[in-house]
Order: sequence, then C-alpha cells, then structure tokens
Amino acid sequence: MIISRLAAFAAGVAVALAPLVAQAQAQPGEAAFRAMFKEMIETDTSAATGDCTALASKIAARMQAAGFPAENLEVLVPDGAPKAGNLVAWLPGKDPKAPAVLMLGHIDVVNAFRADWTRDPFTLIEENGQFYGRGVSDMKSQDAIWADNLVRYHAEGYHPRRTIRMALTCGEEGGGFVNGADWLAQNHRDLVEAGIGLTEGGGGDLDADGKRLAVTVMAAEKVFSVFTLEITGPGGHSSKPRNDNIIEALGQALANLKTLSFPTELNDNSRRYFETLATRADPETAAAIRKMLADPQDPAANAVLDRSVSYHAMLRTTCIPTLVEGGHATNAQPQRAKATINCRTLPGASVDAVEAAIVKAVDNPQIKVTRGMVGAPRAPSPPITPQLMGPIEKTAAAVFPGVPVTPMQETFGTDAGRLTAVGIPVYGFSALFRGDDAGNIHGLNEHIAVQSVMDGRTFMYRLIKAYADAK
Ligand SMILES: [Zn+2]
Repeated sequence: MIISRLAAFAAGVAVALAPLVAQAQAQPGEAAFRAMFKEMIETDTSAATGDCTALASKIAARMQAAGFPAENLEVLVPDGAPKAGNLVAWLPGKDPKAPAVLMLGHIDVVNAFRADWTRDPFTLIEENGQFYGRGVSDMKSQDAIWADNLVRYHAEGYHPRRTIRMALTCGEEGGGFVNGADWLAQNHRDLVEAGIGLTEGGGGDLDADGKRLAVTVMAAEKVFSVFTLEITGPGGHSSKPRNDNIIEALGQALANLKTLSFPTELNDNSRRYFETLATRADPETAAAIRKMLADPQDPAANAVLDRSVSYHAMLRTTCIPTLVEGGHATNAQPQRAKATINCRTLPGASVDAVEAAIVKAVDNPQIKVTRGMVGAPRAPSPPITPQLMGPIEKTAAAVFPGVPVTPMQETFGTDAGRLTAVGIPVYGFSALFRGDDAGNIHGLNEHIAVQSVMDGRTFMYRLIKAYADAK
C-alpha cells in the first residue's frame, strides 16, 4: 500500500516535472543542431582522404533547407584546389556602415586513420557524456554553433544592427589544402571584412573533476616553427656494420634534445591567467601557482605545474620531435636519416635563439640543423578591449555564474593571426570547456563533453547577438 502510494506520488512528480526538465536540458532547435554537427563530423575533411568542398556544400544545403536565404550563402573554391572549398554566409545588419561581426572557423581536420582509433573517427559517437570523432573539439563543434546561430537568427526574424558574417574555411591544419582564411582575405575581402571576429582558441578550463575553473579568452598565440635534423653517411651492407651508424647518431641527438628545456617565462597574459587560476584551482596547484608567480624558476612549483601539459606549455617555449625517417633497405646500413622538430615559441621569442639551443643540444656537427617551413605572416593578437570583454563577461555571468573570465596565452596558433595581419581583428574564443588534454585534439579518440558543446551553443547564441547589437 505504502509502496504503491509512493510510486503514484513519484509518478505524479515525474509528470509535473517533465516539461521543466526538458526545457532546462534542450535549447530550441537542439535536434537540428545535433544533426548538423553529426553531418560535419561524418564528412571527412582531412587533407589525406577528405574534401572540404563537399562539407561546405552540405552545410549550405542544410542551412537553405532550414530557411536561410540562398542569396546570402556562397561556396567558394580556390582555382586548382577543388577540395579546398569554403562557405561564407551573412545576415545583413540594419546599419550598413557599422563594422560587421565575423564568426570564423576551419572545417578541415587533422588526418585520422581508422586502424589507430578505438572508434571510427568519422562517425559521431556519444558515449558517457562525451562526443567522440575527428573534429568534435577542433573545431567542428564551434563550426556547427556558428552555422546554427545564423539559421536561428534568420528564423527568428532577428535584424542585428551590424552584419553578422560567417566564414567556414579549409586548410587551417595544413597538409596541402589552400588556407581559406588567407585566400578569402586576399580574394574576397568584402565577405570577411569585420570590426571584430571570433575563432577557435580559449574557451574554458575544466579541472580533473570537471569543475569549471575559468572562461578563457585568447590574448596571445605561441608561434609555430619547424627544424629538420639530417645526417647522411656512406651506407653499406648490413652484414659488415660500421661503428658510425647514422640512425644511432640521430637517435642520440634526439635523446639529447629530450634534455633541452626552456626557462619559465611570464608575460602579462600568462600572469593574469595564472593569478585567476590560483583562486580556483585545488590547494596544491594553487600553492604551486603562487610560488611560481613569485619566483618563475622555483623548481618545486614548476614540478607540480609540469604535471599539466597545458600549464607546462603555456609557461615556456617547447620543441619536440614529430616525424622521423631514415634508411632505405632492411639489409643495408642507412645513408640518410632525418627528424622533424616542431617548436612552439613564446610570443616575441627569438627563433634564432631557439635554433642555437637545438644545435647545442644535438651536439653533433655531422647533423645538419635547418629551419623549415615558416608560415604566412601572422600578426600578434589584437589588444584585449572592453568592447571584446564586456559582452563575454556579461554572458559568462548569466551562463556560467561565478566562473571568472580571464585572458590567456594559447599554446597553439590559429587563423586569427592571418586575418589580424590584414587588418581584421580576430580573437580566439569558443566558450567550450575542456580538460587539460583539450580533448586530445590532433590525436586519437578526440573528444569533448556533450555538456560543453550545448553550453557553448547557448553562450555563443547570446554573445554574437551582443556584439551585433553593440553601438
Ligand atoms: Zn583548430
């Protein structure tokens, strides 16, 4: 009797609560958003096996099917690069003289090989509160949020003061695609012209327990550089080994490089970031941060902070081997061996000094160290202004109450610097919260929390409106 009354009561509560719970969980149009995100992940846009033009066309078709006007959409493909297509779209503003707001995202992804992954990289999988798939974190979740914003704004009959532009571009990850952000800036400048733009970078930090530590805005990027170590030798039959095997020599040089570490260096951005974090992190980390802020070289403090791959990388220049090749036959002594070293230098650091440090660490004059690919000119991040931060702070107070907002120095580079270099100021901000591994982007089993994506969607829907209506 008691049981059945309780059951009836519980059932009644469940019925009464159901609409409220459903409302709190799902924002309007979530099903359409999820379908678009799924199509983005399931369309391979890697340089090795994918096609950006195919995805750009699918997004355009999906937006049109949702009512977005065809005349405000364009798929643009660079000559001679049929798979490097870009999608631009715009929602015209009431004030044609007011500088536009740009939502920029790259739709290409780093190569992903099925055999290496636990799950198919080009199937969107939702498991234990996480999305898995190539690009879920870098950066198709943000791309889906951008396209979804335009569809929703149009469907609502929203007329912003400023024009809202979207550019979903190919080629940010390299690998042979034409960089769409550069190409649009050079060939269709009017379609990306803006007074303020946002792209990947920053977002939000989660601690190991999933607690939100800070909303982060990219105020600076580290700089990408590549060096090649190369050694050649006479080779010969593998049955009569010489004592100067060049693969062994290269291996020794790489082992020496492991000991190369650059000193901790703080600048205004990283200082502000770590000061904010010290108020939110667990007690051990917070104490280490305070010690490091007082004495950047403090070994004990650095040892604690180095446990985080993010903190370690934010505080110094880093260089690691990323590719290695050598030899020409199983039964021959090698004639050529080569390694690629990828460095991420702090903004303003001298690449000459980094090269000199590598030569010194390698400690073998037979190994030739050369500087490799230097990217297109990129400008330092534009200054952090109240016009940028005001709307982010206001939106954060509503969507993530109590979580502080701080500028940060991103550990990688983005397309922001390419547009900033030509006078279109673009900032890194996603509102997407991630853990220390950033969802293992560029690696295996890339992931992002479902909650992070849904919260990011809520946040960006409001934030872009705030910029678009700003006086
Ligand atoms: Zn990216």
